[in-house]
Amino acid sequence: MARYIFITGGVVSSLGKGLASAALGALLQARGYSVRLRKLDPYLNVDPGTMSPFEHGEVFVTDDGAETDLDLGHYERFTGVSARKTDSVSSGRIYSTVLEKERRGDYLGKTIQVIPHVTNEIKDFLAVDEDEVDFMLCEIGGTVGDIEGLPFFEAIRQFSHDKPRGQCIFMHLTLLPYLAASGELKTKPTQHSVKELQSIGIAPDILVCRSEHPIPEKEREKIALFCNVRKEAVVAAYDLKSIYEAPLAYHAQGLDQAVLDAFDISPAPRPDLTVWHDVYDRIHNPEGEVKVAIVGKYTQLGDAYKSIAEALTHGGMANRVRVKVEWVDAEIFDKSDDVARQLEGYHAILVPGGFGERGTEGKIKAAQYAREHKVPYLGICLGMQMAVIEAARNVAGLATAGSEEFDHESAGKKRFEPVVYHLKEWVQGNHKVERKIGDDKGGTMRLGAYNATLKEGSKVAEIYGTTKIDERHRHRYEVDIAYRDKLEEVGLVFSGMSPDGKLPEIVEWADHPWFIGVQFHPELKSKPFKPHPLFEGFVKAAKDMSRLV
Ligand code: GLN
Repeated sequence: MARYIFITGGVVSSLGKGLASAALGALLQARGYSVRLRKLDPYLNVDPGTMSPFEHGEVFVTDDGAETDLDLGHYERFTGVSARKTDSVSSGRIYSTVLEKERRGDYLGKTIQVIPHVTNEIKDFLAVDEDEVDFMLCEIGGTVGDIEGLPFFEAIRQFSHDKPRGQCIFMHLTLLPYLAASGELKTKPTQHSVKELQSIGIAPDILVCRSEHPIPEKEREKIALFCNVRKEAVVAAYDLKSIYEAPLAYHAQGLDQAVLDAFDISPAPRPDLTVWHDVYDRIHNPEGEVKVAIVGKYTQLGDAYKSIAEALTHGGMANRVRVKVEWVDAEIFDKSDDVARQLEGYHAILVPGGFGERGTEGKIKAAQYAREHKVPYLGICLGMQMAVIEAARNVAGLATAGSEEFDHESAGKKRFEPVVYHLKEWVQGNHKVERKIGDDKGGTMRLGAYNATLKEGSKVAEIYGTTKIDERHRHRYEVDIAYRDKLEEVGLVFSGMSPDGKLPEIVEWADHPWFIGVQFHPELKSKPFKPHPLFEGFVKAAKDMSRLV
């Protein structure tokens, strides 16, 4: 049976709970334990799939096709453990399950209440696969005191009592604000936040205190005394240059030791942190720099493309260069012909995934620029579709080529020849999935891991070092195979296909040093200690380019 670590936050949001959880997971692995990380989100959306990336950041897709919070991306990048559908839940999902059961009559006419029906549903979620790992780390989104979060806090409190003594611990993240005028770190907000936790029956075992300044011994003692934790269990979390320093930094502050002590595990196995020392070295000692433009729509919020930014960093680590990412708003090219001036000087161009027509003409121009100027190009999902439309319009002579997605937006008015069309059916495992245009928006895309077969001798086969791959998908539209011959005639190779040969998965220009479009999201599987081959290759191409210009 797994030991449970519940991670909560107080004082303010955005303290880095996800990162702390991920880093702790990595440290427990370094001591030889197996871990799984889970996220419980208090919002009422059923999943983040339909939430705006402007508001919520990227949607992280798991192998088994769940659309989850971006924190699951952190978990995977730090631990290498593939997240599952059962690792992410929101209040919306919990309530919708409870209400479904009620409609089905599962509760036999009982009055349905938050306690016990909602809390039981949460506890069932926590317990899934509990025998599989040594440690289960469960992070509660939001901050203590939020109205929506209460059922989750109540459920973890009950859960810790349902288990034998010593099986669950609570770790709470807070902030120690610094008052410049008096030159002091203030502990009061932390005390209040712990009080709030205690008032709902949870006594934290470990406090992780975010602080911009070193925490003096005296303050640490004060926090321990007033918050009812051991002094060694007050762990400092200072700002870091790179998130990938977090495992080493938390280890240096004694977090993993404090956790093992809280569980009374003694003697504690010694950690092997070789991987993280190597990661640290690669981040801090680059031998050069490359400049990459990401031409996208959600450029104001870095979190909207979180995994892409991280995967580029990993690609840089593999090549020992720093990747300087600049966000270019695709809409500025929509009406301007001055693409060259905007994109000059970059060593590579990446067009990420996206939804809707806004900004797409700009993305098509970016693909054209990259093709004509032989600049390395990586098109992801929508970025691949735009590269194909560019090829169709400007090379294969199909002047009105476009995507059905954009015609659907204009109430079905047909403006484009649908080189990219709405998927109606596909094969998943050994069954057929079917979709209609008017289907619900939530959870109905082609989601999760699917296999693809790569063409022998293609650039991607060389990059992957194999012809059989599986990658994660999240799309509703697809390049139409009917245009394959026309496009291959002009040099756009369809170098990756679904195993049944029906769905184009990868395209590449034969006469270009590095121009690849992929229908899937390779960024979701990249790790700092195992960069994704496409990102490693893309940054290598950018590095070669930087030597040319
Ligand atoms: N909007 C496109 C589709 O649904 C691309 C999706 C994406 O980029 N993730 O196919």
